[in-house]
Amino acid sequence: MGLYNFHRVLIIVAILFDVGFSIYCYRKYQVSSESLHVVMLLGSSVVTLVLVTYLIYFNRSLAILRSMASDRIRRCHSCYYDLRGISEIDHDRCPQCGAELAAIPSAEVM
Ligand SMILES: [Zn+2]
Repeated sequence: MGLYNFHRVLIIVAILFDVGFSIYCYRKYQVSSESLHVVMLLGSSVVTLVLVTYLIYFNRSLAILRSMASDRIRRCHSCYYDLRGISEIDHDRCPQCGAELAAIPSAEVM
């Protein structure tokens, strides 16, 4: 979990840096009217858009993975009986087939 958040923070810092650099290039262009600053402005704007798109994609992928993982742990590993609403504290065995629920992977893996 910590690594995912670190990755997010890294991407957000890169986005903020690119936005800042785009503003810097725009201001430089206003003063000097050099075409190089327009090229750098366009380049850093494209990088900003790519990073924002990647951050959205990354967050969506992570949400899908989490829902898949939580769906997997809410089912019995041997008979796939739906265990939602059944706590592991009250039941250490599957009410359907009797398999041990401790063998089900923990949600803390993600
Ligand atoms: Zn079962």
